[in-house]
Amino acid sequence: MFDIIVIGAGIGGLTAARDQRDVGRSVLVLEARDRIGGRTHYDYLDGLDQKVEFGGGWVVPACQPNLAREVQRYGLEYAKGPVPENCAWHFNGTTRHDRSPLPVDEIPRFERAMSLLVAESHRIEWGRPFEEQDLADLDIPFAQWLADNEITGPTRELFNSYGAAVCFGAGPDEVSALTATQFAVHAQMYQAIGAQAEAIHQLFVGTLGTSATSYAATEAANAIAAS
Ligand SMILES: Cc1cc2nc3c(=O)[nH]c(=O)nc-3n(C[C@H](O)[C@H](O)[C@H](O)COP(=O)(O)OP(=O)(O)OC[C@H]3O[C@@H](n4cnc5c(N)ncnc54)[C@H](O)[C@@H]3O)c2cc1C
Repeated sequence: MFDIIVIGAGIGGLTAARDQRDVGRSVLVLEARDRIGGRTHYDYLDGLDQKVEFGGGWVVPACQPNLAREVQRYGLEYAKGPVPENCAWHFNGTTRHDRSPLPVDEIPRFERAMSLLVAESHRIEWGRPFEEQDLADLDIPFAQWLADNEITGPTRELFNSYGAAVCFGAGPDEVSALTATQFAVHAQMYQAIGAQAEAIHQLFVGTLGTSATSYAATEAANAIAAS
């Protein structure tokens, strides 16, 4: 007999199990896989002789206080990730080696979509429980949020593949737009603090610089989104 049974040995389950054990309860952790860690998984990628992060890699302590406490508890150190030198984007069966995952003429639509997401993120007040904030309209499938905002085509594919699949480990039907919005806040903080973000920013600046016409259209789209 156990006082507590925890289903799943991801970071959430493991820390909950540990905390319960620490206050004297007996705990059983049930994990379906043959390893612990859940979506945080550091392992070899097929064909590479070096390990890569398959899941959680970036942390923003200000937005992830629970995780920051774990980092502090175990005396772990934050490390800066490598700055990318080359990019390969695999999209709809084709691989591009351009600086941007999107064709230049798609950038205004991408900027509009980002502006909308960032605008939603400004509604979040950090440190206050979400249920006390007026955010229920955002707790819908991310796919629905994209459709409601008429985000389509390559921009939607990018949001789906990078945003939903890479950042959340689930498809856009399974992820809440509120979660996506949280990540947009994280991304803004990454931008403020990260060398990686700076490198990615430079990639986009380079792409925008290749087309003055496109840049003007982007600015126009921003102005519309902001009004
Ligand atoms: C590619 C990728 C990149 C990411 N990048 C970041 C990042 O940079 N920064 C960040 O903060 N987050 C990132 N995340 C998200 C982060 O990894 C997750 O939010 C976090 O690991 C979730 O932890 P969890 O314990 O809640 O769930 P999970 O890690 O999903 O753990 C759940 C566990 O429960 C098990 N389980 C489920 N159902 C059952 C069942 N019925 N019986 C038994 N076991 C069950 C699963 O096998 C799994 O091990 C990323 C995720 C992915 C996939």
